[in-house]
Amino acid sequence: MKWKTIYFPRVEVMIVFPVLLFLFVGCYTVPETGRTALNVVPDAQLSRLALASFNQLKEEEKVSDDYEMNVRVNRVGKRIARSVGKDLPNADWEFIVFDNDELINAFAMPGGKVGVYSGIFKIATTDSLLAVVMGHEIAHVTARHANQRLSRELLIQFVAFGIDSAMEDSSRESRNAVLTAYGVGTSFGYRLPYSRLSEKEADHLGLIYLARAGYDPVASLEFWRRMEEAETGEKPPQFLSTHPSGENRKDHLLELMPLALNEYEKALQEGKVNYSK
Ligand SMILES: [Zn+2]
Repeated sequence: MKWKTIYFPRVEVMIVFPVLLFLFVGCYTVPETGRTALNVVPDAQLSRLALASFNQLKEEEKVSDDYEMNVRVNRVGKRIARSVGKDLPNADWEFIVFDNDELINAFAMPGGKVGVYSGIFKIATTDSLLAVVMGHEIAHVTARHANQRLSRELLIQFVAFGIDSAMEDSSRESRNAVLTAYGVGTSFGYRLPYSRLSEKEADHLGLIYLARAGYDPVASLEFWRRMEEAETGEKPPQFLSTHPSGENRKDHLLELMPLALNEYEKALQEGKVNYSK
């Protein structure tokens, strides 16, 4: 009897190994919703890339020195950051207002870097309304949506080309990948919308965060109503191009409302009262 040589074709090893590695190493459970998601880029690495992107944005865009806006964004941001707690360990929170009245937009990045364009104040006229958009953006981060998007892209790259320097720490491409994954980066001219699932998850988590921070979750209905209304205006907010609004967003929020009101009630009992409506 003749033994056959067992061998693994190189190309198959190159495909199978990274796929297995991805599936076994990189999974993450999304807070509150409990969904298991692919998540292969270490949080620390993503935070470093996000920090570089954020600093780049601060250099390239005009940072607002409007006292009132900065106070409000920091006040709301800090309260939400406290209710996020362990969902984003090692966060180094930073809340920046970018001076652009035409841009009705906001974003948050891994590591706790949050940007709000001054145009958002046309819609977020109260702290509770501002908490809706900031809570939603921060929820995209705690649910690791950018990481999932990057993980999928990296998986495709690995399968196609084998392991190479797909994620070099400080390269401009990597930073741009983070910006794209977050749907920001006005300077780079490309944006990707979040998936419907990501939107639903961010609505859910964001609602819980703002309620825990002592903001009335019912404000979320008004915020999205105003956003939809602005969409039909002369200059539709860019926000909705990256945060697609499903027809059933309102239904989903109403469905979650008892849970959120319960959290809000607890927050009020703990003395987290929002004095600045
Ligand atoms: Zn969103």
